[in-house]
Amino acid sequence: MKKRIGFVSNSSTSSFIMIGLKIDRNKLYTTSEKRSCDCDVPGIEEAAFCSSCGVKVKMIETEVPIPEYVDYKIGKFEIQDEREYSDGDAYAIIPGSDETSSDYCMQKIDIVENLTELKAEMKKTFEELEMWNEKEFGIWFGVRSD
Ligand SMILES: [Zn+2]
Repeated sequence: MKKRIGFVSNSSTSSFIMIGLKIDRNKLYTTSEKRSCDCDVPGIEEAAFCSSCGVKVKMIETEVPIPEYVDYKIGKFEIQDEREYSDGDAYAIIPGSDETSSDYCMQKIDIVENLTELKAEMKKTFEELEMWNEKEFGIWFGVRSD
């Protein structure tokens, strides 16, 4: 249950803050071709339709994450990659720096320890992937509809 302080609101938005790097989400993925079904049927490559599941056999392009992007993370940095909240951007987050609130109240954000070191590590990690841009690193604040 949401805690309300002072007044009641039926608004369904939440706000968030984080320290991190804005990145182009397109750089998180590459395209790869795969067959339209995964059935293990002898001779399926030459067949027009799969004899097991019935789909038309063809190669389709799929989006696959780059090898460094595993379990929503690159290295120790969580990747926020929510298309509905952005127009093609994703964010890499400094661990411990993100907070979300749907309550209308003040909330203290603990300053991240070792921020300088974490930023340096983030810079090194993302420079290697050609995603680092000093101007896109900072404190990000946003509001989203739930
Ligand atoms: Zn099939």
